Amino acid sequence: MRTEYAVGVDVGGTRIAVGLVERKGRILKEAKRLTPQGGPFAVVDGIIECVQDVVSNVHPSEIAGVGIGLPAQIDFLRQSVEFCTNLPLAGVDVRSLVMSRLRHEITIDNDGHLAAFGESRFGVAKGARDFIMITIGTGVGGGMFVGGEPYRGSRGMGSEIGHMVIQMDGPPCPCGGNGHIESYLGRPALAAKGKEVASTFKGRAILEAAGGDLDAVTAEAVVKAALGGDEAATRVLMEAGVILGRALVGLVNLLNPQLIVVGGGIGESASFMVERAAEVIAEEALAGRRDVRVVQAELGNDAGVLGAAVLAFDEHDAREGLHR
Ligand SMILES: [Zn+2]
Repeated sequence: MRTEYAVGVDVGGTRIAVGLVERKGRILKEAKRLTPQGGPFAVVDGIIECVQDVVSNVHPSEIAGVGIGLPAQIDFLRQSVEFCTNLPLAGVDVRSLVMSRLRHEITIDNDGHLAAFGESRFGVAKGARDFIMITIGTGVGGGMFVGGEPYRGSRGMGSEIGHMVIQMDGPPCPCGGNGHIESYLGRPALAAKGKEVASTFKGRAILEAAGGDLDAVTAEAVVKAALGGDEAATRVLMEAGVILGRALVGLVNLLNPQLIVVGGGIGESASFMVERAAEVIAEEALAGRRDVRVVQAELGNDAGVLGAAVLAFDEHDAREGLHR
C-alpha cells in the first residue's frame, strides 16, 4: 500500500525536532523540544512524545514509518548506535526502544546522511546522481550519493567527511583523532579562532557581535561580523574556506561529483567560506573535474526532519516492493 505520510525525527545535542511529512515534502505538523539531558531513556522518551504529538490525528495505516536521524555513527545494517559524542546513546538500542512503544516501523541513520537524503529529494541536489553533502555545524558530517544511490560503505558508516585527515599531527578532533576537517571548521574551532582575533584591535567587530564579551564569542558571531562587512571576520571565514576547499579537492579528484552541497548551521550562513572553497576547487582540482558546482544547502532547519522522512518512505517502499 502506498502511504501518504512519514515521520521525520531530527535528534540534535540541544533539540529534538519531529515532523509529519507528506510525500511531496510538505511538513504538516511539527513538534520540538529541548533534548532531555537525563540519560538515554530520557532522550528516547522525548523522541516518543514528539512523534505521538505529530501523529495524533492520523490513522497508523497511513504512515509509512518513522525515520530517526542521530548525531552518531550508525551501523545501518544492524541498526545500532556505535559511537555518539554529544548524547549518551552509544550501545543503546534506540530503534527497539522506540519501536516497542510506537506502532510504526523505525529506521535510524546518521544525521549527515539524512541531510543528503533531504537535499536529494526536496532540495538543491534534486536530480543530481553524484553529489557530496558536507554539513558544517558543531560537528562536521556529510553524505554522498554515487550513481543515484546513497553511499554507505560496508557497515553503513561511511561518508564521515568531517573526519578526513587534512593535517598530520594537527589540532585534536572531538572524535579523538588529530587534524581532521572538524578540528578546523566545527563551531568550537571557528569560535576559538574568532576569540583569538577578537582579543586584538582588528577584531572589535567580532567582539561587538558577541555583545562585547570575549568569552561569548561564537562561530555565529564571526559569521555575523563578516556578513556585516568586517574585514577581520571575513578573513577568518576565507581561511576556513581554503581549508574546506583543499579538503574537497581530494574528494572531487576521487569521486568526480557533479555537485557539492554545503549545509549545516555554519555552512548555510557562511557564504564567504563556501565561495572561497569553490575558488580553491576551481584552481586546484584535477583538470576535467573543475566544473563541479559548489552550492549552499536549501532546506535549512528542516533538512534533518525532511531527510529522516525520506528514509522512512524509502524503507517502506522497499519493504512493499514499490518503486520511487
Ligand atoms: Zn575527527
